[in-house]
Amino acid sequence: MALLRAQEIANASRNAPGAEALEAKETGREHWLSSANGRLVGRPDLIHGDAVIDYKTGEVHEQGDSSVAKASYVRQLQIYAFLARERMGKWPARGVLLPMAGPPLEIDLEPAACERAASEALHLLDNYNHKIEAGGLPASLANPSPEACKWCPYQILCPAFWMAAGDSWIEQLGTAAIGGTAPAAPRPIYGGAALALLLSADNGTGPLGEVTLAPLSPEVHTSLVLVQAGMCVRVTGLARRADGTVVPTMRSVIARSEDVPNLTISDQTVPQER
Ligand code: SF4
Repeated sequence: MALLRAQEIANASRNAPGAEALEAKETGREHWLSSANGRLVGRPDLIHGDAVIDYKTGEVHEQGDSSVAKASYVRQLQIYAFLARERMGKWPARGVLLPMAGPPLEIDLEPAACERAASEALHLLDNYNHKIEAGGLPASLANPSPEACKWCPYQILCPAFWMAAGDSWIEQLGTAAIGGTAPAAPRPIYGGAALALLLSADNGTGPLGEVTLAPLSPEVHTSLVLVQAGMCVRVTGLARRADGTVVPTMRSVIARSEDVPNLTISDQTVPQER
């Protein structure tokens, strides 16, 4: 789907002004590009003509401002342009963000800005590696935010996520994540076809307090059968109803806190809080 949409735009751009700036033989689809001895890598969906094209499943504008492209996507395109220039010897002039629905969003790619974005990325990488070498808390390596964590599959076990996630996150995160104590084991509902789990939630995006999660399938959420009264449980990927209550989905992940692995840096072991 991504490539079909990208090709659609590529076809449309063949006759666009500047499209001849890079030769057709330089067109690349999902090719890994690298620089700085492999420290900077990227795989744009398509490079065609004078454009770097990247498909996006979600919103391409900053929240609340339909005239501004997301800064993280602009940075991504700038780094792709830097990598493309290293490979091809020419700067792409345009970046194109291609959403699933709606028109493409074009971004001018200034060489100086692209070089700056690449340099900043390498600087961040070096800082990150120095932090790992120095040891410390795993959470200190992370930079959690609703936008960064939204699609991250590690929410359930990430200490930085649970330290930072609060009720102000819920709109941008798109799903709810709560942690708390189960006052009782999950109870059967619908004649035993599903389970309901009551949580006294005191952590995460909310809702906090007494929260009932149902219906839950024991075949999907296999950890449920192990939950006993008094155990701490984390749940991520809950859908939010208009009235603020939450409901489990196929994306929901449930784990007993005691099953969440401890994360380590170097030879340090850091127990999870709950
Ligand atoms: S959940 Fe943790 S690992 Fe994932 S993006 Fe957020 S801070 Fe990073």
